[in-house]
Amino acid sequence: MIKVTKFGGSSLASAQQMEKVGNIIRSDPDRKYIIPSAPGKRFSDDTKVTDMLYKCYDAASDGEDIDGRMAEIAARYQEIIDGLHIDLSLDDEFALIKDLFKRRAGRDYAASRGEYLNGIVLAAYLGYRFIDAKEVILFDAHGNFDAERTNDVARARFKSVEKAVIPGFYGAMPDGSIKTFSRGGSDITGSIISRAVHANVYENWTDVSGCLACDPRLVDNPEVIETVTYRELRELSYMGASVLHEDAIFPVRVEGIPINIRNTNRPEDHGTLIVESTVRSPRHVITGVAGRKGFCSINIDKAMMNSEIGFGRRVLQVFEDNNISFEHTPSGIDTFSVLVHQEEFADKEQDVIAGLHRAVNPDNIYLETDLALVAIVGRGMKNAQGTAGRLCTALANAGVNIKMIDQGSSELNIIVGVRDEDFERTIRAIYREFIENDYKK
Ligand code: ASP
Repeated sequence: MIKVTKFGGSSLASAQQMEKVGNIIRSDPDRKYIIPSAPGKRFSDDTKVTDMLYKCYDAASDGEDIDGRMAEIAARYQEIIDGLHIDLSLDDEFALIKDLFKRRAGRDYAASRGEYLNGIVLAAYLGYRFIDAKEVILFDAHGNFDAERTNDVARARFKSVEKAVIPGFYGAMPDGSIKTFSRGGSDITGSIISRAVHANVYENWTDVSGCLACDPRLVDNPEVIETVTYRELRELSYMGASVLHEDAIFPVRVEGIPINIRNTNRPEDHGTLIVESTVRSPRHVITGVAGRKGFCSINIDKAMMNSEIGFGRRVLQVFEDNNISFEHTPSGIDTFSVLVHQEEFADKEQDVIAGLHRAVNPDNIYLETDLALVAIVGRGMKNAQGTAGRLCTALANAGVNIKMIDQGSSELNIIVGVRDEDFERTIRAIYREFIENDYKK
C-alpha cells in the first residue's frame, strides 16, 4: 500500500505537534510520501509562518531592514528543532533566503520558504529523504499548473524513491523561478503526488475530525460526515464549507483515489472518506448543509415570454456583457429571475437594467436584495421521496419564508433562497430536521 500523507500548518506548528505527526507516520509504514505545510498557528492569535514571510518580503521590497523579522521566523523553526532534539542547522538556508529577499526573488519565492524549511526539518526528524517540490511540481510559462508534465516527471522521480518528504504549496516555472498555488495550496500538492505515485489513499491531516455536516459556528458539535463523494464535496465547498482547498479534488479524481481527512490531535478518529462513488448508504438522506449570504435577484416580467424563443439567452447575454457570473435562473411562465452576487452586481446595476430593457423589452424589472442561498446536498436524495416536503415543512415551522427553491436534475442538491436575516435559522432548521432528529438513525 502507498499512502500520501499531508499535514496542515496547525499539525506542524510546534515541536509538540511535530511529535504527534512523527508518531502518526511511524505507526504505519505505508505512509511513504509526506507533504508538510509551513508551521501554522500555535494558539488562536498566533501568526502563520507564511504570513510572516509575506510581511518580511514586503518590508525588504520597501527597502526596510529585515534582520528582526527574519530572526523571528528563524526562531519559529529553531523552537521546533530544539524541541525535537534534531541535529540540524538552518543558518545557511536563512543566509541565502535573506540574500534572495534583498535581491527581490519574488513574493512566491518568499512564501514558499515556509514549506521548504519545514520539509527539511520534518525529513531530518523522520529520517526520510527531502525532495524539493521545485523538481516535481511544474508550471507552464503562463504560470498555469502543468498537470500532465508534472505527473510524468513526478512519477519517474518517485520510482526510485521509497520514502520522501515533499514540501507543499509550490513548484517551479520553466525558468526555474518559484511559483506557489493559492493560499492553502499544500492540499493540492498532496493530491498531485498521490496521483503520480498511484497512492491507495491520500490522507489529509488537519485539526478537525473530518468534514462536518454543517458549519460548527451555527450548530454545536455538528456530526462528522463519514463518507462523501467528490461531487457532494464540491457542492458543499462551493457553498462555503471548507476543509480542503477546492482544487485539491482534481488530481486524485483522475485516478479515483480516495481522500481521507484526519485529525492529528485525535488520530483514533476515522475522519471523513472522500470518494468517487460508493455503495455505502449515507447515514442520512442529506450528507450536509451549507450556504452563503450576499446574493440578489433580478426579476424580469414579460407577458408571453414562455413562447419567445431566445429570451433566456438574450437576458444572460446582458450579464455576460457586463462580466457578471450568474448563480441560478429560476423562472415562471411570465417571469425570469437571475441570481447573482450582490457585491459583483452593485457596481454595474444600472448598465444591466438598461441592457435588459434593450435586449428583451420587459414589462417590468425589479430587484430583490440581501438573499442567502442554502444548499442541502446528498447522494441519498436520489429517489428518496418527500425530501422537498420535509424541507419546506421544517422551514415553515422555523418561520422562514422560502423565496426560491431549485433542485438540480441530478437530485444531488436542493437550493433554497431565503432572506439574509433568516440564514442562520434556515441552516439550523435543516440540520435539526435531516440530521439531528433523523428517523433513519
Ligand atoms: N502555508 C500556505 C498557507 O498558509 C499553504 C498551506 O498551508 O497549504 O496558505
